[in-house]
Amino acid sequence: DRTPLIAGNWKLQQDHLQAIAFVQKLSWTLQDADHDFDSVEVAVFPPFTDLRSVQTLVDAEKFRVRYGSQDVSEHDSGAYTGEVSGAFLAKLGSSYAIVGHSERRQYHAESDAIVGRKAAAAVRHGVVPVICVGETADDLEQHGAAAVPVQQLRDVLSELPTGEFVVAYEPVWAIGSGKAATPEQAEQVCAALREVIAEARDQETADATRILYGGSVKSGNIAGFMREPNIDGALVGGASLDAAEFAAIARFK
Ligand code: 13P
Repeated sequence: DRTPLIAGNWKLQQDHLQAIAFVQKLSWTLQDADHDFDSVEVAVFPPFTDLRSVQTLVDAEKFRVRYGSQDVSEHDSGAYTGEVSGAFLAKLGSSYAIVGHSERRQYHAESDAIVGRKAAAAVRHGVVPVICVGETADDLEQHGAAAVPVQQLRDVLSELPTGEFVVAYEPVWAIGSGKAATPEQAEQVCAALREVIAEARDQETADATRILYGGSVKSGNIAGFMREPNIDGALVGGASLDAAEFAAIARFK
């Protein structure tokens, strides 16, 4: 049985002071709603510079909200200016690290091989990678929805023989566009991605691995995605920046 994960990717938004206010508000809102964190996991992904503040707050207040980073270096240490090691992120209590987000693939030329090595670096330090895959509008037109994300996940997993991971299916055309995939479209691709996991690892791992949908998710459309058998949560961008709205997404039932 897979515990749903509702994840909020803040991207380049909210400094550490805003992060503290936000995580407080989110946690109180969820507590007031008697949110059952054992049934639905909630995690935020702030910029690196916020993580220490979030850790201090979450530890002090014993909040159940989890957090992760938006990226991680493929290297553990060394002459890699500007990089952040998975070892450091683990010390900050980061449960997860997003790897291969389409914005990093696009603006930082991250290949599937790099994404795979980043995922492996996270796993080395006990941080669970959230592996992002998804097709562009062009890919969709030329190859259909599943072909590109399926190949991306195959290539990433070839660099990641062991360790827990999460997959996020984010069609690039659905990100920030207000035009989400339909639950049926997303389900088809997520089912195909689960088969990739079964091939790369085994059926048990495929059955245990959470696959999230991302791309214009909001409180008004989350329920449809969560009803699909192969969708185990969401990676939310814009709608994760409003604490009440994000809490409402976490209460999708
Ligand atoms: P939006 O929810 O703003 O479409 O962003 C999705 C995303 O890229 C999350 O990683």
